Order: sequence, then C-alpha cells, then structure tokens
Amino acid sequence: MEQLTKDIFYENTYPTYGFAVTSEGVIAVDGPMKPNDAVKWREAIESKGPLRYHVNTEHHQDHIAANWYMKAGTIISSEVTFADFYKSLANEEEAKERMLKYDPDWTPLLAGYELRPPDLTFKERMTIRLGGKTFHLIYAPGHTRGQIVVHAVDDRVAFVADNLTPAYNVAFHSADVWGWFQTLGMLEALDVDWYVPGHGDPCRKDEFPHQREKMSEVIANVKALKDSGLSREETQDRVDEVYQTDLNSPKLGDRLDMLRRGGIGNIYDDLEEHPSGGLNNRTDPIWPNV
Ligand SMILES: [Zn+2]
Repeated sequence: MEQLTKDIFYENTYPTYGFAVTSEGVIAVDGPMKPNDAVKWREAIESKGPLRYHVNTEHHQDHIAANWYMKAGTIISSEVTFADFYKSLANEEEAKERMLKYDPDWTPLLAGYELRPPDLTFKERMTIRLGGKTFHLIYAPGHTRGQIVVHAVDDRVAFVADNLTPAYNVAFHSADVWGWFQTLGMLEALDVDWYVPGHGDPCRKDEFPHQREKMSEVIANVKALKDSGLSREETQDRVDEVYQTDLNSPKLGDRLDMLRRGGIGNIYDDLEEHPSGGLNNRTDPIWPNV
C-alpha cells in the first residue's frame, strides 16, 4: 500500500485503485482484480476505518472483481455502469474461470465468490459528505460510457480511473470517443494536486497532453484506414497498424486483440458523428400550413 497524501492511499497492481480516509470511515475507489490482493486490500482498508462506500468507476472486470472481497456497506456507480454491469463479466462462473486463467492457485480464494452489483446509482453527479470532507462523484464518460470519477475535494486528489492511463495504451472498446475529450477538459480544470489513474502511477496535470496525444494517434490511424476505403471489418483487421506504439500492454493474450478490434469498430462508427453530438435521428417533420 502506497501513501499519496495524508489521507489518500493507493496501490498499482492491476488496475490502480485507492481509498480516502475520513474520521467517520473510508471511501474506496475500485479494487484489485486478483483475489489474493483483494483480501490484503480489505485488511489494509480495515486498519484505517470501516469501509463506508465503495465506488465502481466503470463496469470492466478489473474494476469490479473485488466488490465481493471488499464487503463495503454500499457500492456506488453511475446508472450506465449499473446497466452494463454484467457485460464484462456475465456471471460468477465466467468470473471465476477468467481469474483462474491468471493463476490456478486462487481456487480456495474463489469459494463462494459472487458478483456484487452496485447498490446506489446516479446520473450526473452526487456528493458524499463524510467526516467533515466533501467528495464529488462526477459522471465523466470517456474510456467507458458509464465512467465516473471521484474528486476528493479536501484531499486535493481526483480518482480518474481509465480516463487517464499513463504508460499504457488507450482502450476504446466501451468508449464514448468524443465525450472522452470533453471529460479530459473538465478533469484538467479540477483544483487538485494529484490524479490517480486506472493503470499506472499517480500523475499530475502534465499527463493530459500525453493522454490526448495517445488518443488522437489511435483515432487518426483508424481515420486514415477508413478514408482509404476500408470497411469496418477490414479496418479492425489492421490492429497492428492502428496500435503502432505498443506501450505497457496488460497480459490479456487473445482478449487484448479482441478488445482492440472492438475499440477500432467503435472509433470507425463514431467518425460518422460530429464531436459535438448527433441529432439522434429525431427531427421535426415539416408542419403543413393549415
Ligand atoms: Zn476499463
């Protein structure tokens, strides 16, 4: 466990997750994907106080697998993340099977394992006041359509999950491609000293240009292939051309290829839409002059 500021702790295993301590208990943001880390993480939290709230920033497996181990009073996410909750891990069996692929020694730790969906959801923003501190939970679509961030106002830290991924490639398979750029602008404007990302070590504001550059590179590569006349599927087949810079890739094997293909398809589709948003195909008819 690493200490970032007086009351903010984090760990960068896979993914990066953390918690904030107050005089009335702890607020945790995501948790470790590996069961053995999750058990230790729960003990680390308990040493600082009761776990009052556990926030899921997104529905991807690595951010929600620990829900069952951490045993929070209340799990919170966005409404969109709740709606997508079973899309990354469909059920307990699939979750266990996937985790055992990482390490078969975890079998005893997975006895009785359950997926635990969020208890409390919100749409745009909610505020938690705990132990004299203020925490804004803000809907921040980007890496996923349901992404939220936790702004620990008094600690001057923002937990931004996979909307920032220093030293990693960007993943677009669940993304709100254009919304992500808008979200980065909002996050950059926060009056904080630190950002805790979803993968990588805590970073400063100078990470934002780097993040935009990585996103723009992938989008530009998809656009070039699309403009040359390739179909959606043909573009997806060019994964290696799109991801020319291979940064610190997670050990996902074939899944990484599948997810990247999904991301390329997402970008391909979103290139049809103006970054300011579409009209959702709903316009008024011409009203006759009667
Ligand atoms: Zn993710």
